Amino acid sequence: MLIDSYDRVVDYLRVSVTERCNFRCQYCMPEKPFSWVPKENLLSFEELFEFMKVAIDEGIKKIRITGGEPLLREDLDKFIKMIYDYEPSIDLAMTTNAFLLKGTAQKLKDAGLKRINVSIDTLKPEVAQAIAGKDVLKNVLDGVNEALKVGLKVKVNMVPMKGMNADEIVDVLEYSKERNMTIRFIEYMENAHAKADISGLKSQELLAILREHYEFEDEGFDGSSPSHYFRMKDGYRFGLIEPYEDDFCKQCNRIRLTAEGHLIPCLYFDEAMSIAESIKRGDIKGAALVLKEVVRTKPEKNRWGGEDSEISSRAFYETGG
Ligand code: SAM
Repeated sequence: MLIDSYDRVVDYLRVSVTERCNFRCQYCMPEKPFSWVPKENLLSFEELFEFMKVAIDEGIKKIRITGGEPLLREDLDKFIKMIYDYEPSIDLAMTTNAFLLKGTAQKLKDAGLKRINVSIDTLKPEVAQAIAGKDVLKNVLDGVNEALKVGLKVKVNMVPMKGMNADEIVDVLEYSKERNMTIRFIEYMENAHAKADISGLKSQELLAILREHYEFEDEGFDGSSPSHYFRMKDGYRFGLIEPYEDDFCKQCNRIRLTAEGHLIPCLYFDEAMSIAESIKRGDIKGAALVLKEVVRTKPEKNRWGGEDSEISSRAFYETGG
């Protein structure tokens, strides 16, 4: 079992399989072309899988594939199947923009994927175009329909931003509710790669809007999820991820791996250690030692709020958010 210095059990690994993305979401990526990590620096799926085995053997129980856009990486289903075949009880999930999901959902489900989180920030084509930098909405919604059809469990992530999509909170919630998908509203987190003039809706503002439409009760946190849940009268549950409000570090159980092999103990710290060399050498013991060291040095708290508050220089598209 992996236990950090603050007695938290670390059993959740988020794996960013690529930092590349087919969207240019204003809140996540710079618009201008920038230099991607060269492909030869990325770990192959076989190499990543070697590390997945180490992580599973050490106590990881949940793996989420993310990016960038994970569906841009060819043969993702084969990677998922390798993990599933090694340990079928692993909770295997993926976060995606769903643009390429229509043609891939069945293969991913058959490979062993159980759940997906899809980013849906708007239901208006022109707003989707403005946020993502291209006309994406139809593909996204088709992708979601297909995922539901093949039996994947789907959650929706929305980042509400003032003057952009904040007027659609209720619409996106209703869209999700009709399809039995939990929605989580994520407070926009400032970061060095986002467009400068974005102003995110804070959770209290968001709750005030929702209260005009619904009655709901605060259910608090659910296990180690960073999401704060609320239940409406008819039983539907929605979540808020509010780094400005909540101290979800207390129950944090996660570490992150980038496509290059950097193992990151906290999204808001720049510190990381690489497993790439050990894995490329076939040094499984070495990779396990790096994993244990990263868990040991996992910070108690992120750097949001308080005197140490800082804008994260780490790119969400690199770490997978
Ligand atoms: N491409 C996939 C997607 O669109 O979901 C996975 C990667 S994306 C970086 C993962 C999550 O990070 C998305 O739900 C996205 O909304 C969230 N995210 C990215 N930048 C963010 C920011 N500045 N503030 C809050 N959430 C952010």
